[in-house]
Amino acid sequence: MKVGVVGSGFVGATAAYAMVMDDVGREIVLVDLDRRRAEAEANDIMHAVPFSHPLSVVSGEYEDLSGCRVVVISAGVNQRPGETRLQLLERNTAVFRQVVPRIVEHAPQAILLVATNPVDVMTHVTAKIAQQCGMDGSRVLGSGTTLDTARFRTLLGRHCGVDARHVHAYVIGEHGDSEVLTWSCVTLGGMLLNEYERFSDIDIGASAKHEIKHKVSGAAYEIISGKGATYYGIGAALSRIVDVLLHDQRSIMTISSRLENVLGLSDVTVSIPTLIGGQGVISHVPISLNDDETAALQASADIVRSATDSLSL
Ligand code: ADP
Repeated sequence: MKVGVVGSGFVGATAAYAMVMDDVGREIVLVDLDRRRAEAEANDIMHAVPFSHPLSVVSGEYEDLSGCRVVVISAGVNQRPGETRLQLLERNTAVFRQVVPRIVEHAPQAILLVATNPVDVMTHVTAKIAQQCGMDGSRVLGSGTTLDTARFRTLLGRHCGVDARHVHAYVIGEHGDSEVLTWSCVTLGGMLLNEYERFSDIDIGASAKHEIKHKVSGAAYEIISGKGATYYGIGAALSRIVDVLLHDQRSIMTISSRLENVLGLSDVTVSIPTLIGGQGVISHVPISLNDDETAALQASADIVRSATDSLSL
C-alpha cells in the first residue's frame, strides 16, 4: 500500500516517520519542491526501518505518486515578517494550485489528506481544485480538529481519572481559536458528564472546563513559543488517519471536510464527527448540540467561510 507525502518539511516528514513506527502502509514517497530535503528526510527515516517496521521510504517526483491510495499534503510556505494571514493564505493557495492538479493527474484514485494550516481553508481550497480536475470532493479531507479532540479526551480523562480511550468527546468547528468543545455530548463509560459527576463525585465545574478549554486551544501556541513549530502530535494524528483510510476502518474522527446541510451548515469546511473509511468521507455525524454550542459552531464556521470567500477559487 503506497502513501504519498507532498511537502516533506517538519509535519510531512514526521507523519512519514510516524507511519514507519506505526506500520502504516508499505511504501512512502516524499515529494517536495526542495528535492534535497525530501531525499535527506527519506534517507534519515529509512534508518529507523531496521528498528521498527519493514516499510520503504523514498523521495520522488509527482510521477512517483502513481498508485498511491492516500496522499498527505503538508506543503506550504511560512509567514513572512509583516505578512497578514490573508496574504499567507493567498501564497499557500498559489502553492496548492501547483501541487493539487499534479497529484490528481498522477494519483487520481488517491484520497487527499490535507495538513497545511489554516487546515480548514486549505482543505476547502484542495477540494475545489481537485473537483476542477475531475476528482470527487468527498475524497478530500483535512486533519481538522483530530489532534484537538485527542487533547480534549486526554485532559478530561486525566481530570476524571479515566483512561482517555473510554472518554467520548469532540472538538468541532475551525482548527483554531474559535474551535468548540462539545461538553454537552461528552460521555464516559456511556454516562453523560453530569451523570458521571454525580456517580464519581468528581467536580467538572466551570473552572475545570475553562482550564481544559484553555489547554486544548492554547496547546499549539505554547509549543510554538518553546520550539518554533509543532509536528509530533500532528504527525501521529496523520498516521492514524492514513491507517483508517488504507484499511477502511470506518472510524468516527473530527477530520475537516466540506459540509452540506449538516448541523445548519452548508458549503463550508470545518470539523464535525465524521465517519471515514476506504472511500474517504462516508457520512457526517450530526451530533446533538445545545444552543450555545450550535451558536459557537456557526460563529466558528463563519470565520472559516469569510477566509475562503476572500480567495478567488
Ligand atoms: P511545516 O512545519 O508546516 O511542515 P515546513 O516549512 O517545515 O512547514 O514544510 C513545508 C514544506 O513544504 C517545505 O519542505 C517546502 O519546501 C514545501 N513546499 C513549499 N512549496 C512547495 C511546493 N510548491 N511544492 C512542494 N512542496 C512545497
